[in-house]
Amino acid sequence: MTVRVPAKVNVQLSVGPLREDGYHDLVNVFHAVSIFDEVVAKESDSITVQVDGKWSDQVPVDDSNLAIRAARALAKHAGRTYGADLVIQKDIPVAGGMAGGSADAAGALVACNELWGLGLPIEDLMEIAGDLGSDVPFSLIGGTAVGTGRGEQLSELPTGGTFHWVFALANGGLSTASVYAECDRLRQAAGAEVPWPQLNDSLMEALGTGDAYALGRNLSNDLQAAALNLRPELAPTLDAGGQHGALGAIVSGSGPTCAFLAIDATHARDLAQSLTATGAAHTAVAAHGPVQGAVLV
Ligand code: ATP
Repeated sequence: MTVRVPAKVNVQLSVGPLREDGYHDLVNVFHAVSIFDEVVAKESDSITVQVDGKWSDQVPVDDSNLAIRAARALAKHAGRTYGADLVIQKDIPVAGGMAGGSADAAGALVACNELWGLGLPIEDLMEIAGDLGSDVPFSLIGGTAVGTGRGEQLSELPTGGTFHWVFALANGGLSTASVYAECDRLRQAAGAEVPWPQLNDSLMEALGTGDAYALGRNLSNDLQAAALNLRPELAPTLDAGGQHGALGAIVSGSGPTCAFLAIDATHARDLAQSLTATGAAHTAVAAHGPVQGAVLV
């Protein structure tokens, strides 16, 4: 069983005040883009994982691997002991703010559901996914969707067209927890009251009509200041996007990947080339969205 599953960028990430349980209420507009991991599940007596591809050395292969955790959770839900050898072909940057681990978890759920002949409906997989992590349900469905709560309560959002992106991949990742902690620290230092997160209507309209210019103007990420504080070298990378005609530039999720919205596919290719040629990014990848979530191939 082979499942292909996409990365995401957050076109709006609004972070509410810190809750007592340590989480934040979010308004999180997810958008799935055409950078994919592949998860293969083969019959076995136990659940194991192997990771191949360019980022493989940064991914744990023990029980902390999110694909293993997903397979275990699915077996538990089915009430039986099952085995699977999982092989992940990794193309999504690790700890890059593009939900790579969540993608692998979603991929493992779909692959093992099929391998084990469970036939569980998407609703059941979504429930298991929500327990695994707040980005995992979105990795299952893909497309474009608004997440509220911790990000796990999802409503799908039809978009009026395809958007073209460039992703500047950074050397080394950023831990999501440390970026949230830095965001809280910055807010505490500023002393201002943190507003309740609100969905941006102009952004919704831009997505609905497929207007890349309006989408570019309305990209927002409340974690960006924290990510830039932790990785100041990202600021000139974002600025370089504007100099090469990007319609918008933003840190993807908790970073350090930077996302640039292009006018069309040709502009995305040119922009990726310019960012690497000028040294603003050491690797830049053109991609498009929305694309569908975890799918058997
Ligand atoms: P998000 O955008 O959801 O905040 P991220 O893209 O920044 O996440 P991930 O690539 O999901 O980060 O990885 C976060 C950490 O999870 C990694 O540092 C790694 O140690 C661990 N991890 C566990 N399983 C996986 C997996 N299958 N793929 C990638 N990372 C994994």
